Amino acid sequence: MSALSSTDPRIAELVDAERRRQDEKLRMIPSENYVSPAVLEATGSVLTNKYSEGYPGRRYYEGQQFVDPVETLAKERAEALFGVEHANVQPYSGSPANLAAYLAFLSPGDTVLGMALPMGGHLTHGNAVSATGKWFRAVHYGVRRDTGRLDLDEVRDLARAERPRMIICGGTAIPRTIDFPAFAEIAREVGAVLLADIAHIAGLVAGGAHPSPVGYADVVSTTTHKTLRGPRGAMLMTTAEHAKAIDKAVFPGLQGGPHNHTTAAIAVALHEAAQPDFAAYARQVVTNAQALAAALTARGYDLVSGGTDNHLLLVDLTGKGVTGKVAAKALDAAGIELNFNTVPYDPRRPFDPSGIRLGTPAITTRGLTAEHMPAVAEWLDRTVTAAAAGDESGLAATAAEIRAFLADFPVHTPAT
Ligand SMILES: *Cc1c(COP(=O)(O)O)cnc(C)c1O
Repeated sequence: MSALSSTDPRIAELVDAERRRQDEKLRMIPSENYVSPAVLEATGSVLTNKYSEGYPGRRYYEGQQFVDPVETLAKERAEALFGVEHANVQPYSGSPANLAAYLAFLSPGDTVLGMALPMGGHLTHGNAVSATGKWFRAVHYGVRRDTGRLDLDEVRDLARAERPRMIICGGTAIPRTIDFPAFAEIAREVGAVLLADIAHIAGLVAGGAHPSPVGYADVVSTTTHKTLRGPRGAMLMTTAEHAKAIDKAVFPGLQGGPHNHTTAAIAVALHEAAQPDFAAYARQVVTNAQALAAALTARGYDLVSGGTDNHLLLVDLTGKGVTGKVAAKALDAAGIELNFNTVPYDPRRPFDPSGIRLGTPAITTRGLTAEHMPAVAEWLDRTVTAAAAGDESGLAATAAEIRAFLADFPVHTPAT
């Protein structure tokens, strides 16, 4: 019996149920993944017991003989993998990492230009309900109504008119490649700092399946738990010029002690991401997403921007006669986990929008390839069609079919 199950059987039971759930479902939320047993082991290590405010060699607590080299390794691996001059691996997650970037370069009330949340941006890119929208003057760009793609002329015009101190590119529901050189040119023209938020695509960038913002953006922010396949955490990467400002913003500007167990797991994930098979993984994620996009398009689905260049698909279900939320709930019951999502210019409300967002990072980690995508599209289509008809009778059978299919693609996660 594990320590967890003898101390707290209820939590042990819930953790085990969640492990089984992750085993049995097609997990297609594009910001999620399966970490390796090595990453999981580092996350659950004794490093969680240690306080180490400060940075390697400059700490406010004693006993850093082993934590210092752990953080130094994580930092050096990030710098080598992404080709940056400086990496800070301490941000607790993507949102505080972004707030640290604001803190490093802006004063309250300063103007930021980011992608609007309903167009594919993130809350922390100046949305009104976020601290970044309350404490800063946020201006937003979107995508074109006719193409579903970002309009760089609009970004340039807005930047010239609003003179932002910081421009943010990247987002949570962008199915297309981000043009970092074009953003850098606009930022340079108006004298703004460029923050590239690659939280979703960091693994694709590391694996060479998406262009890198390095050399274009002043600061790169990323989570470590999405396509990068590490623990829940984040990193800020920058040039030597901005290194001090970023470090001071993270600590002591925004945070206290770093989560050393997470830092160790980030180091492990970065080591894994530097192996040749990770580049193959990143390419396969995109190949799978494009195969799925083709299969769904063939079934009459309306994909925002007409397809995908990366790991995610944004589908407008208006033509299918069902809302995103109703479809997502039916799909969950049918063994396919994804999320309802606004689509650009969505006439519906964010809590029951017109679209769904799905992606291939997690199923690719399990070993699914392009040949399996027509079957995934068939399960999706079958369930969306049933949801539109209000028919729940077949959902459990689809879930059972998916469970049986996935048994051939085991998740290598140890049981509690
Ligand atoms: C996920 C995400 C974040 C926030 O990360 P959290 O770890 O959830 O705080 C920030 N920016 C983008 C673009 C994201 O996709």
